[in-house]
Amino acid sequence: MKTRVLPISSGSIQEACHILRQGDLVAFPTETVYGLGALGLLPSAVQKIFEAKGRPSTDPLILHLPSADLAQARATGVITDPIPPNSQLLAKTFWPGPLTLILPRGPKVPHEVTAGLETVAIRCPSHLGAQQLLSAIDAPLAAPSANRFGRISPTDASAVLQELDGKIPLILDGGPCLNGIESTVVSLSQNQPTILRPGVITAQAISQLLGLECKISCRTQLQDTPTTSPGMLASHYAPLSPLYCCHQPIKTFLPEFQHILFHSPQESKPDHAHVLSPNQHPEEAAQNLYRLLRIADAQSPQAILIDPIPHSDLAPALQDRIFRASTGSAIWQGDSWTFQGRDKT
Ligand code: AMP
Ligand code: MG
Repeated sequence: MKTRVLPISSGSIQEACHILRQGDLVAFPTETVYGLGALGLLPSAVQKIFEAKGRPSTDPLILHLPSADLAQARATGVITDPIPPNSQLLAKTFWPGPLTLILPRGPKVPHEVTAGLETVAIRCPSHLGAQQLLSAIDAPLAAPSANRFGRISPTDASAVLQELDGKIPLILDGGPCLNGIESTVVSLSQNQPTILRPGVITAQAISQLLGLECKISCRTQLQDTPTTSPGMLASHYAPLSPLYCCHQPIKTFLPEFQHILFHSPQESKPDHAHVLSPNQHPEEAAQNLYRLLRIADAQSPQAILIDPIPHSDLAPALQDRIFRASTGSAIWQGDSWTFQGRDKT
């Protein structure tokens, strides 16, 4: 199959709708990462997502909705009662945007989407291209990240092509993604917010809005608690080269490694060192993380080393992605790094 890459225009949106209505796949930009879209209420189309990605069917998908109105999601059978009141406030405040809500599954949602669960993950993206596509198709799109399973999520159209060339008919190119990491996933069982996957919408922002403590519950944060979100694997988003999280900021650049620094160093840096946030903003680091992991990985180094992530409200999201992409950690001991593997189960 020939994979075409087309910039977003009314013509390419129409073409994307035509492909989607035939039950095929289209990759499209969102503010988080590029999604691999299919008609979310059509089981045979959803099935194709799992095949193209090599994703296990036990890993549920997120439905992307044309409307930020939960009442409409209920009226169209995407979600059902009881709808927790706090989800209304979260949707009103953060949609369209990078927040996914876990809500009771409506009768129209196939089991393929939810991996058999009685809850469904939904969000309304803010990217203009995603909004144009969703309003043109006027139906929910199931859309996980447009990468092969377990690989780094794509944050621009060329990365999608690298991942899925020949496997899908069309990639809509809407430029680089603003957020650069996947959405925050929030569960609201008993109306209490729990973050199952940290993202750009932080626990602090949710707590402040709802006036309730918002816990982060995933394996990378609470090592001993079992994950409450299927698909939140301890290993994910990984480059092909081993990635090590450094205990200390990287000061020495050894030729056999690629280096990802948080800030620009005082002195000049070599070409095999890349900076996550030249302006020292965690949002900028998130935006650059997957792009730089891809660049470093393309050099096939012995290993990729990454700086510790400084404390901020966004640090849990960055640490989560880096931890799950990693093989282990590295400690600088005088004149060399000592590597330590980690449990990946
Ligand atoms: P993505 O791979 O970015 O499409 O994100 C999908 C992720 O959302 C899954 O891997 C789960 O971690 C989470 N998710 C989706 N549906 C549910 C659900 N019903 N309950 C809990 N987590 C879910
Ligand atoms: Mg993914």
